Amino acid sequence: MSNSVKDRILELRELLHKYSHAYYNLNTSIVPDAEYDNLYDELVELESKYPDFSDEHSPTQRVGERPLDKFLQFKHKLPMLSLEKAKTEDELTQFNKRISDSLDSNDEIEFCCEPKLDGVALSLHYQNGLLKRAVTRGDGLTGEDVTQNAKTIKSVPLKLFGKNHPVFLEVRGEAYIPLEKFELMNDRSVGSGEKSFANPRNAASGSLRQLDSKIASSRPLFFSAYSVGDFDGSDLQLDQYSHYRRLQQLQNIGLAVSPLLKKVKGIDAVIEYCHGILRKRDDLGFEIDGVVIKVDSLAQQQALGFVARAPRWAIAFKFPAQEQLTTLLDVEFQVGRTGAITPVARLAPVLVGGVTVSNATLHNQDEINRLSIKIGDTVTVRRAGDVIPQIVAVLTERRPLEARDIVFPSQCPVCGSAVERVTGEAVARCRGGLFCPAQLKESIKHFVSRKAMDIDGLGDKLVEQLVDQQLINTTADIYQLDMPALIGLDRMAEKSALKLLNAIKASCQTSLARFIYALGIREVGEATALNLAQHFGSLPALLNASLEQLLAVNEVGKIVAEHLQSFFAEPHNQQVITALQAAGINWPDIELQPASAQPLAGHTVVLTGTLISMGRDDAKARLQQLGAKVSGSVSAKTYAVVAGDNAGSKLAKATELNVPVWTEQQMLVLFSENGVA
Ligand code: NAD
Repeated sequence: MSNSVKDRILELRELLHKYSHAYYNLNTSIVPDAEYDNLYDELVELESKYPDFSDEHSPTQRVGERPLDKFLQFKHKLPMLSLEKAKTEDELTQFNKRISDSLDSNDEIEFCCEPKLDGVALSLHYQNGLLKRAVTRGDGLTGEDVTQNAKTIKSVPLKLFGKNHPVFLEVRGEAYIPLEKFELMNDRSVGSGEKSFANPRNAASGSLRQLDSKIASSRPLFFSAYSVGDFDGSDLQLDQYSHYRRLQQLQNIGLAVSPLLKKVKGIDAVIEYCHGILRKRDDLGFEIDGVVIKVDSLAQQQALGFVARAPRWAIAFKFPAQEQLTTLLDVEFQVGRTGAITPVARLAPVLVGGVTVSNATLHNQDEINRLSIKIGDTVTVRRAGDVIPQIVAVLTERRPLEARDIVFPSQCPVCGSAVERVTGEAVARCRGGLFCPAQLKESIKHFVSRKAMDIDGLGDKLVEQLVDQQLINTTADIYQLDMPALIGLDRMAEKSALKLLNAIKASCQTSLARFIYALGIREVGEATALNLAQHFGSLPALLNASLEQLLAVNEVGKIVAEHLQSFFAEPHNQQVITALQAAGINWPDIELQPASAQPLAGHTVVLTGTLISMGRDDAKARLQQLGAKVSGSVSAKTYAVVAGDNAGSKLAKATELNVPVWTEQQMLVLFSENGVA
């Protein structure tokens, strides 16, 4: 073997060891998983090509990392292994062939499929139905005793349902943090100056491996069971034949099991299942990195056995990675509608989660400081779901000598006005107001957008031209546009100009809620605008409202109330509102109902699953207008649960508690019957 190959093997082992120590023991990712996997695959290939250089301590021969001394250690009775991986359909087909050959079977194999939760493996030990111990996977042979922390996880039962439990039962599963809870948890950490986590997996691992169980109890950890490990007990009722049935049994005794678990026959059905989960990936509410596929028959599992690091009867089908490495080429500063100056990272284009990413938000100066990022750095970029791509980590060890600091501008890059950062606020703002062309353009784009005045044909490029040519200086000027002004513009023929003028005219007929939203008042989104319209019923009532009256509106707090008051107190805004009304903008009167006459007055409603017709916030605002309190959790007192697509545990709880479940359609009927459609 040449020295260069040997050096590369040693280098890869050292790198992988360093990365996995950080990942498993320090709950941080120095590099994204995709980079780790590439280096790992390279090492596997070199080691198989040059077997003389094999080493039992190589990361390719081991699972995880040695447990940390700061925890009590516990030796697993049965090792907790890793999983073989497949990245393509072909590799799944080969897996199926290997199994069929090895079992010498021509029958289609039955498989159990479920999403591969991206959290941490956890083993729960029950003695006669009582939780006695919880252990992490560690290096597969010995794990860390995290019993006190696991006891704080609400989905880990301390006592199993029913009777006649085995003397000993080991349940294996994944501890994880759902995405929404992860974001809240990180926001809170950043707000209180604590360290935030780059992704839900690291957060789950860091939370489960807390030395202080009080801290662990404040973390939103969940547990989902995926197998039975060791067990002991003659009167045991555990199914002896099917993995799927065992999981159902675990569910019956109080453990959470994936609602997406499915038993299928043959590899084609497995592939179809994988495609289905990939399509749903962004709506699941928790992070997954693929699908785990297991042979269902326990007898077949036993016949297939294990290789060094993984069972032969299971495989993980890996989905496109949601984090990748790339380079920060430059930072530009964008000025938003409210003057907020956002640093935008220009990145070397990279494929993340199946989409090419070349920009990411850096949010604000605090985020730049938190990341200690410089132009030229190698960074981890993350794109999960429809969330804007974000830079979650910087590889300082790869920082080039010529890396440059990011300098936040002290003057607006568009209008040159001073940039101000209010104490206590993270955002820096241009003080130019609507004199700043960037703010003016953004506020006009917002005003004409679909959910606001909905002026079809007035796209971003056209707004920019109109402002640049000073054909419009306020939103009210839109209604003064005429044919001669429009046909002088780039790519504007008479026909499209006429169409646009008609759309502008049509937009005059609107609703009070849309009008309030269109004004673009800070923190006043669609739902708040709707609440304000329904509460005050007319524009003068809103304009003259005192702070106390504003605070009485659903979901309006002190900050929103103050933004409203200062917006309406500004003479320029008053003039624009008057001019807009003079231009013919109008809306039907709203009849205010006394609170007690509202159909859902005094009732609590819960929304769950994905709604097709509108966003959650929108549905929530409408329910509130009907008098409902909208809550995030189901209890016996809940009046109704509205279940959209893929509703999960809340729907199950509603059924269990006999709480009425409404379909989205039923909710829409209620809305239209009560005039809030
Ligand atoms: P793995 O995480 O890919 O697969 C095994 C694990 O899957 C189990 O331990 C369990 O926690 C989890 N799992 C989820 N659902 C499951 C189910 N239904 N049944 C069984 N297990 C299920 O493999 P691994 O060996 O634990 O970890 C290797 C992976 O970790 C790598 O592919 C890499 O992406 C990542 N890693 C990343 C870094 C880094 O620096 N970013 C370092 C080390 C490892």
